[in-house]
Amino acid sequence: MLTLQDTLVFAVFLTLFLGVNYLVFAYGGHWFFYRFLGPKIPHRRILEAEASPSQVAKEKSRSLMTQVIFFLTALTLYILFKLGWTQVYVTWDERGPLYFILSFFIVHQIHDAYFYWSHRLMHEWRPLKRFHFVHHESAPPTPFSALSFHPVEAFIQGFFWILISFLIPVSALWLFAFYSFMFYINMWGHSSYEFWHRDLLTHPILKALNTPTHHNVHHKYHKYNYSIYYNFWDRLCGTNHPEYENHYRAVKARTETAKTSRLMKLLKL
Ligand SMILES: [Zn+2]
Ligand SMILES: [Zn+2]
Repeated sequence: MLTLQDTLVFAVFLTLFLGVNYLVFAYGGHWFFYRFLGPKIPHRRILEAEASPSQVAKEKSRSLMTQVIFFLTALTLYILFKLGWTQVYVTWDERGPLYFILSFFIVHQIHDAYFYWSHRLMHEWRPLKRFHFVHHESAPPTPFSALSFHPVEAFIQGFFWILISFLIPVSALWLFAFYSFMFYINMWGHSSYEFWHRDLLTHPILKALNTPTHHNVHHKYHKYNYSIYYNFWDRLCGTNHPEYENHYRAVKARTETAKTSRLMKLLKL
């Protein structure tokens, strides 16, 4: 049953959830890469350029607006759930533990496709292009770029959570966990530092994964490289940037010569 009191409690929880995620992934990621570790590993930097303070300030204010849109989207989803219109369930094992585990990967795969096609649409369909190019003002990207969107794009990104709640039965726990997972991956993708395996591009399994270099190249050239977690859709549709592999090999070659950690050498990272 939908009550005002429950809705207010949820709104407070949601505000805390979004705030803590932003603090951990955006501020935490920025501190980690630009203050703590970054100065010690310049050879792992993907692009030469530095983000200006005004770029970072813009990213922060746009991220705040994105979180307001995400808040409103999640609140709408909560109301739809309370009205019994979604397939969201609360008890984690309601559909069995196997489905619970499996459903996270299903959500992950559907989001991979949703992100690729919505991102590509925002590049190739003129009416949406100008909204997405707000995100492309972040060049080079920083962890604060991860949620730096025009409100229209923020709505497109947030709409996924409503869509998935209607598409498949999904635990409420996974909806929250998947948001944190998405933010974490997104932060790495915008970090401007490369830590992936040296031979990733030719590795039979790892080549399926995307890298921060992949998304940095997208921010630099404004074309190609539309995928997020996996390289599957870009490979299938022939939209990997022709310069992507050269950029990746160049940053890894720099890393190889400057690497001092024996563990990193051993793991070929
Ligand atoms: Zn883009
Ligand atoms: Zn980006």
